[in-house]
Amino acid sequence: MSLIGIVAEPDGETRVAGTPDTVAKLIALGYDVVVEHGAGAESAFPDAAYETAGAMLGARDQAWGADIVFTITPPTAAEIALLRDGATLVGMLSPALKPELTASLATRGITALSMDAVPRISRAQSMDVLSSMANISGYRAVVEAANEFGRFFTGQVTAAGKVPPAKVLVAGAGVAGLAAIGAASSLGAVVRATDPRPEVADQVASIGGEYLPVDVEVAASTDGYAKATSAAYDQRAAEIYSEQAADVDIIITTALIPGRPAPKLITAADVANMKPGSVIVDMAAAQGGNVAGTVAGQRTVTANGVVILGYTDLAGRLPAQASQLYGTNVLNLMKLLTPGKDGELVLDFDDVVQRSATVVRDGAVTWPPPPVQVS
Ligand code: NAD
Repeated sequence: MSLIGIVAEPDGETRVAGTPDTVAKLIALGYDVVVEHGAGAESAFPDAAYETAGAMLGARDQAWGADIVFTITPPTAAEIALLRDGATLVGMLSPALKPELTASLATRGITALSMDAVPRISRAQSMDVLSSMANISGYRAVVEAANEFGRFFTGQVTAAGKVPPAKVLVAGAGVAGLAAIGAASSLGAVVRATDPRPEVADQVASIGGEYLPVDVEVAASTDGYAKATSAAYDQRAAEIYSEQAADVDIIITTALIPGRPAPKLITAADVANMKPGSVIVDMAAAQGGNVAGTVAGQRTVTANGVVILGYTDLAGRLPAQASQLYGTNVLNLMKLLTPGKDGELVLDFDDVVQRSATVVRDGAVTWPPPPVQVS
């Protein structure tokens, strides 16, 4: 029977990789669990709740010294040194962006699984942390925008006069964009959305948004993700963004193309044409931003009184929710890795999900994995 350690995250990371609920389910899978003191403090999971769920509480070196260690933040060199030989590390290791981390993990005789390397196929959706965090971030982007905006989102007829609904534009209708559209329309706003993948039009409409087609043909996607758009597409889209910027109160941008910097969609002139008091949330800030003037991690106010939010920690701003979904994604991976339900981790490299997520195996780098057929 193996011991799982759930570590306390560093300052600035509000989430935790396991909750009392997921701990109880890990114990039911046959594991023992040690939780570092205070690990859930910022996400409203007190130590006592973990104990009630059946976990032991432990010091930092006990959690990092377990057989299987759960983290969110990539480990530091000092934390890697605390791992025991033969341990398994499960975290957000960003192997494509941090090859030096993967290499340093491989200097130890350990196995490392990266939650953000779980393939984005239907069968692995229950383990897909990128989707679960994008969903939370899209919702939170609307909450941040509503907090900054000095008016209602919903329209009202009051004794003191008629109030029009806020108008919201969401650029990019993937996981985060759809969450933002749903949240903004449920607050009563008029919501419009763009995306180069025309197949999202029905999804946008089903949650109360209006899809704005660009009407310039785009190369069909082979894997469900957007490809870089053509100059003709970008030119027509730019006209739409200029028209919309002058009209809407809120813009939320989520546009990303895998493996490339974020596309620039909203120009400085578009921002200058927005009404004072308008709000932009640039959810692509960490990848370079979709909006001219975004500063990653910062709130800025333009000369014409437009607030631009470049926050890169939107999921962490709902820490209890984010920990619950991240923890459940990790639990679902552990169910796959524990076929005997006996607290023994068995890694099956013939399984595409396990193969893809494994970036180091027994001290050898196994990233990148063979390409995965999208389903
Ligand atoms: P993403 O985060 O890579 O991109 C966000 C959005 O930006 C996408 O909708 C993309 O089309 C859009 N975009 C790209 N260029 C743009 C531009 N120039 N202008 C406006 N928008 C632009 O994508 P994502 O949200 O992770 O996922 C996209 C899609 O992939 C999902 O809608 C879904 O269909 C599919 N997906 C499937 C799974 C799964 O099966 N497990 C998981 C995740 C995503």
